[in-house]
Amino acid sequence: MPNPEQSYDLIISGAGFAGLSAAIIASKKLDRVLLIDRNPSKDVGKKTTWGWVCGDAIGKPHIDFLEKKIGVKFGSPEIERDFHAVYALSPDLKNRFKFDGDGYALDRPEFEARLLNIALSAGIKYLDNFEIDGPILEENHVSGIYGRDNNNQLMVFKSKVVIDALGISSVLRRKLPQNPFIERNIESNDIVLTGRYIFEYDRSDENPGFFDKSNALIHLNNNIAPGGYAWVFPKGENRVNIGLGVQKAAMEIRNRKLKVNDAVKSLLDNYVKLNSKLYNLRIYNKNNNGAGFWTVSVRRQLDSVVFNGYMGAGDSMAMPNPLSAAGIGPAIISGILSAENAIRAIEERDVSVKGLWKYNIDYNMAYGNKMGGMELFRIYLQSLSNKSLNYGMEKFLTPEEASEITLGGAPKLSALSKLKFALRGLGDIKAFKGLVYTVQQMKLVDDLYRNYPENPERFGTFSMAVKSEIRRAKQMFSPLTL
Ligand SMILES: Cc1cc2nc3c(=O)[nH]c(=O)nc-3n(C[C@H](O)[C@H](O)[C@H](O)COP(=O)(O)OP(=O)(O)OC[C@H]3O[C@@H](n4cnc5c(N)ncnc54)[C@H](O)[C@@H]3O)c2cc1C
Repeated sequence: MPNPEQSYDLIISGAGFAGLSAAIIASKKLDRVLLIDRNPSKDVGKKTTWGWVCGDAIGKPHIDFLEKKIGVKFGSPEIERDFHAVYALSPDLKNRFKFDGDGYALDRPEFEARLLNIALSAGIKYLDNFEIDGPILEENHVSGIYGRDNNNQLMVFKSKVVIDALGISSVLRRKLPQNPFIERNIESNDIVLTGRYIFEYDRSDENPGFFDKSNALIHLNNNIAPGGYAWVFPKGENRVNIGLGVQKAAMEIRNRKLKVNDAVKSLLDNYVKLNSKLYNLRIYNKNNNGAGFWTVSVRRQLDSVVFNGYMGAGDSMAMPNPLSAAGIGPAIISGILSAENAIRAIEERDVSVKGLWKYNIDYNMAYGNKMGGMELFRIYLQSLSNKSLNYGMEKFLTPEEASEITLGGAPKLSALSKLKFALRGLGDIKAFKGLVYTVQQMKLVDDLYRNYPENPERFGTFSMAVKSEIRRAKQMFSPLTL
């Protein structure tokens, strides 16, 4: 084996938000930490050759969490603008539900460069231009990684723990041995195909339906973004992030019905044309990051995010929120919590699944435990036609009840409000019954997560119960009709 002498306490694979957050925390306590990415350091955080493909929006509490944990304040240029809320609009634009509260529009290349600088100043070793090919496995235990440097030279790096922060298509996750803890593949219906542009414009008309400088807007509309949604997020001065995500199966159904052959790019270009409130739109190509296409998962995080010698953080573990696909916040939270737990497990000299298990519990408490219920709601939502969405957003839920769902809770209904609630469903009984069923099942799944297994021995029963609820929902609600 080449270079076997290179051995570390911790290897962090991937220098996106998850890996960089982990690196900063790890640098505080561990001396031998290696952060590896295929990007040259000047492009740190770039997801693909397409750039830092993202809506660039993040809730304020996530930045607060990061600042508190690493003791650094963020501002311009890495934060471009703040906004008050994220609103989801019905297809007919007549109703809007608040999806999320105060947040920021980020300049991702600037933000991730700042995080790398913080990690480097704290003494982290960053190996750039390195392509990771897989995990080193010893008796069902991850003990390092192998890959190729920019001269295509095979290299091996050993470590006590590997944090996998390689993003959605992680080659480490996919090459783990068959095991009961980490799923190696993510179902295609749980993945959204996305595209987005960053534009600059000369002037704008405010219009709550299409553009709002103070708020991020989301359009639910199966014609525009089948099985997903489209967005207009304000960025810095006279700049905007416009994009959409679709479920492949839903897009194919839509295309067949309309006898068209749309793909993500044509849908995105059509959506941009609809927006007449922004004048002289042109691509803003700073860092070659003006146009890009990529994927994001919209399911709960993997039921366990640890294996022997291995922890996962961010998109590699399907952590984006199933309703909003927001993944920067969960990447930061999981990066930080994984590093804290790696430090503890290394100090306690137990880096087996059992020794790392507390990370599962910490992540669920901090963020993950609402995601199973939200996945159920997403599956239901994807089965609704535009007509049902219009009717449902007007009649089924009050804005408060809808917000409760988007924040991860199932609405609590008193006996009287249950009666009023039932009356709201009369115009679309099928969709309404689906909603009632889904809210009920969300409570059940939330209960399962409230009792997340305290140790790996109880994991099998938990995971089977969650999977069976998700399977049932998928059988019950198939992708939309227009
Ligand atoms: C179009 C789109 C819009 C989105 N909008 C939002 C939004 O507005 N708000 C939000 O919160 N989230 C959004 N998300 C999700 C968010 O972008 C991700 O959740 C977040 O970037 C995840 O961070 P990460 O560190 O886990 O992974 P990534 O950002 O994917 O980083 C992975 C890193 O691993 C490296 N890497 C991968 N494979 C290898 C390899 N084999 N060898 C070496 N290096 C490798 C990559 O170079 C990269 O640096 C969006 C996603 C998409 C696609």
